[in-house]
Amino acid sequence: MDDLKIRCPKCHWQPDGKPHWSCSCGTIWDTFSTGGRCPGCGKQWHDTQCIVDAGGCQSWSPHLDWYENLDDFVEEVKEVLKEPVSVE
Ligand SMILES: [Zn+2]
Ligand SMILES: [Zn+2]
Repeated sequence: MDDLKIRCPKCHWQPDGKPHWSCSCGTIWDTFSTGGRCPGCGKQWHDTQCIVDAGGCQSWSPHLDWYENLDDFVEEVKEVLKEPVSVE
């Protein structure tokens, strides 16, 4: 997963690992550390906002669109899944 980059699909701002996102329940966290899920209430955020205060563009984009090379990653997982499973 070394080549899995995260950046805003609109302006290419890259998250800096800081907790910029706040949930409707009041939790503030780094949404990319949890795949868009709030650690406070468990709500899954399907869209992620770009952080204007950190140099972003403030647009909302689907969370998965933030992951560059996600297709490569999915292909890798598929390769792993292709491995035959021995059934005793
Ligand atoms: Zn929450
Ligand atoms: Zn942006």
